[in-house]
Amino acid sequence: MPDRPIHHGAFDLAGLGAGPFNLSIAALADSHVPTLRTRFFERRETLSWHPGMLLPDTHLQTGFLKDLVTAVAPDSPHSFLNYLVCHRRFYRFVNAELPTLSRAEFSDYLRWVGGRLSSVETGNAVREVRLDLHGFRLSCDHGSYRARHLCLGTGKAPWLPPFAEALHGPQCLHAAEIAHVERDFTGQRVAIVGGGQSGADIFINALRGHWGRPAELNWLSRRRNFQPLDETAFTNEYFTPEYTRGFHGLPEEIREREVAAQKLASDGITPAALQALYRELYHRFDVLGEPRWARLLPHRSAVELRRQRPGFHLTTEHGLSGERETFDADVVIFATGFCSRLPECLAPLAGRLERDARSELVLGAHFEARWDGPASHRLYAVNAGRHSHGIAEPQLSLMAWRSATILNHACGREVFDLGDDAGPIVWQPFVERDAWARAI
Ligand SMILES: Cc1cc2nc3c(=O)[nH]c(=O)nc-3n(C[C@H](O)[C@H](O)[C@H](O)COP(=O)(O)OP(=O)(O)OC[C@H]3O[C@@H](n4cnc5c(N)ncnc54)[C@H](O)[C@@H]3O)c2cc1C
Repeated sequence: MPDRPIHHGAFDLAGLGAGPFNLSIAALADSHVPTLRTRFFERRETLSWHPGMLLPDTHLQTGFLKDLVTAVAPDSPHSFLNYLVCHRRFYRFVNAELPTLSRAEFSDYLRWVGGRLSSVETGNAVREVRLDLHGFRLSCDHGSYRARHLCLGTGKAPWLPPFAEALHGPQCLHAAEIAHVERDFTGQRVAIVGGGQSGADIFINALRGHWGRPAELNWLSRRRNFQPLDETAFTNEYFTPEYTRGFHGLPEEIREREVAAQKLASDGITPAALQALYRELYHRFDVLGEPRWARLLPHRSAVELRRQRPGFHLTTEHGLSGERETFDADVVIFATGFCSRLPECLAPLAGRLERDARSELVLGAHFEARWDGPASHRLYAVNAGRHSHGIAEPQLSLMAWRSATILNHACGREVFDLGDDAGPIVWQPFVERDAWARAI
């Protein structure tokens, strides 16, 4: 790496990325631990929340009280409520009685908080991180910096099925990039692969003609049906600090099993989106009698994609009969989720970080990655603990609690009181209850 100007004075904690998860740490540190020297480096010039998926009529799956700070510091000036008050729209927000925020509003809230924090530097990507005798050294676009601890918050990478990778381009794309450029699907055959929330968001926008009126719209899903997010009260108990702390103490194979069984608590489609979708289909095709140019095709696993002129030839396997079907499409959009990937800038440290069987970082109870480096320098990681801390970890729900856990640990004292009363569910057998309580 070419030498860059060194900024003197080390930070206690440096963040890689300023998505919502690291931004939450930045916001809490700013208001509650001003003595902690922090700096968060964000490669984007302007903070924005998954800009490639900022589509009309898309909403959070999470309530607005679960913002960057409120769950642990309701007195923080960086709360969503303060954002509303400062924008003079508190009463109108209340009158609107929104079930959840739009993604556009949440993204604007993040941008507003980031703009108030001197610790957040936008337009300054981290290119390389090394460890020397003085701690971590970060080489960024606009200089080099030193830090005692790091917090990895660079998010996840879009995942394409391997058979589609070689064909990736303007007509064969991942959902995460759909809003990056202007698109026109008028008269085109469009296929969407993936039956989660992103697939639903794209399908309804395509149906409503956001990119023009396609000739044909096929939405394929491996799942048995277009399944709802389970957001009922007892399921939401998975999204509590108590459950998450206890979960971390379970053996790895049990955690794997539970995460798989809880899939629809985090990866389903909101009932509101499903209902909107159904009503739109009913109105268009049953009431107005349009020929059915949009089809929902569950129980199909995409297994192969070939280029043909024009467009693509997509092959699927049926979940009930095993039969293969083929679909011709001019545009194929993969709403196939995201995967964990260590960012390139951490390559010099990659060999020192412990990984589990899935090659994911092994995280301790305070979200510190296990590694063979000195104990005086820690690398925390956010959005990396679905298998260590449970399905709530990659979600917004516990973001403020996790940030406070990390800050308490980094400071070596209890800045935030994270004590919690026991909930209504007794998760563990009574004999193990004491051990579970000790883990908490
Ligand atoms: C479309 C979408 C909608 C979602 N909706 C919800 C929801 O409603 N509720 C919920 O609980 N969860 C939701 N999630 C899941 C999760 O809450 C979000 O993905 C969340 O944004 C994760 O935050 P993050 O900070 O870890 O990562 P990201 O938001 O991905 O942010 C990572 C940041 O790091 C920056 N970065 C990357 N590399 C570098 C580098 N080398 N140097 C500097 N900066 C870098 C990136 O530019 C980016 O700004 C959603 C996810 C997606 C994709």
